[in-house]
Amino acid sequence: MTETSGSQAAPTVALCGGTVVVALDPPQVVMCDVVLAGDRVAALGRAPGGLARRDCTGALVVPGNVCAHHHLYSSLARGMPYRLAPPRNFTEILQRVWWRLDRALDETSVRASALRGGLDALLAGTTTVVDHHASPNFIDGSLEVIADALTELGIRSVLCYEVSDRDGPERALSGVAENRRFLAHQRRLARGMMGAHASFTLSDETLAACAETARAAGTGVHIHVAEDAADQRDCARRGGRRVVERLHNAGIVTDQALLAHCVHVDANEVQVLSSTGATVVCNPRSNMNNAVGHSPFNLRAGDGPGAKVALGTDGIGGDMVTESQVGFFRAKEAELSTSPSWPLARLARGARFVGGVYGEPLLGTLHPGAPADLTVYDYGSPAPLDAGNLSGHWVFGLSPGQVRDVYVAGELVVADRRSTRVDQAKVAADGAQVAGELWQRLEKVPAHDFEPMGGEHR
Ligand SMILES: [Zn+2]
Repeated sequence: MTETSGSQAAPTVALCGGTVVVALDPPQVVMCDVVLAGDRVAALGRAPGGLARRDCTGALVVPGNVCAHHHLYSSLARGMPYRLAPPRNFTEILQRVWWRLDRALDETSVRASALRGGLDALLAGTTTVVDHHASPNFIDGSLEVIADALTELGIRSVLCYEVSDRDGPERALSGVAENRRFLAHQRRLARGMMGAHASFTLSDETLAACAETARAAGTGVHIHVAEDAADQRDCARRGGRRVVERLHNAGIVTDQALLAHCVHVDANEVQVLSSTGATVVCNPRSNMNNAVGHSPFNLRAGDGPGAKVALGTDGIGGDMVTESQVGFFRAKEAELSTSPSWPLARLARGARFVGGVYGEPLLGTLHPGAPADLTVYDYGSPAPLDAGNLSGHWVFGLSPGQVRDVYVAGELVVADRRSTRVDQAKVAADGAQVAGELWQRLEKVPAHDFEPMGGEHR
């Protein structure tokens, strides 16, 4: 063996013969076996004889991807009926689509959504989901239900409940309490953060409660920031401030914070976000789908010193290969000089964030001692592959359809493209049935009447 961790656990399995991506940023690629012991990578090199082996000849062995911003509750929304007038802007998308769906969710549909969304993520090679959950008519215990479903699948997660004042003060308080309850009982593969919706649906009092709950639990706040210009208009009407300034003053923008989108932020806000150590999550497909604009953090303007930029799907599935490819093309279209390392650096950043939550600095790498979260791709490379050109293979050749095996914390949870934990046909059938019932309830839920301050129409 050439590199070992000194781990005390006995080796359990060797992944043999593959091309191993030890790290994404900076890229490190070696041809070697990967020996796992318990929940860790134990060694890289030539595996000793007598050990259980999994043949990875011709395959690419890669650290598992992290989806740094997901909404698993939207997993059964694909293809759902829509009979209201078409939304004309982002606020109307929330009022007529997502704030109707979340109010139709009950315990059964929250569980089915988490099971289906978590399974889809694993099958696409994603080993950690950072989720942002809302179900205003089933708040108490909702995070436990999601954690149970994800634990059943064997996927790692960081969960929170999206606190908001849009459904009244009682639900805002229940949301804070749900986060606090979950944060008090961490699990091996499910951790908590403090969740909050966005500046424009949060009073000063509720923002303060979110910041205090996070501080007391030693965690950060996961919140949407300036996804649309409506968030900035609302903030200006509340006191002439910018969104990042308001959140920073409230104690939300810390080095443990996870700030989704940051599309409508100015140069000063970019500087504040970069200097505080907060992690920004870009969700390029979602931003395009909602026509909200380009985040400077998706482009070079937000790529300055100190900027920590990860990637999420914002609920458009759990496939980070495709998200990173689309995000790269979007950045490249805007700026031809976009670095080829763009997708790898952002994926590595998401893993580093989760590593911080779990106290695992090597998470997102395959260095000995790292948690054994990894994906085996059947990637029949048409050309030489090394650290110098990994990003080219990633952007132009990798596909979630190539995902063969997935390990999380040393356990083989997807083998030969099938979950080893759950009956996929049953998850699909149950999900379809629950989706039908959810869609029926949804038809009776009217558009939400919550309006941001400052007007809507562009
Ligand atoms: Zn989101």
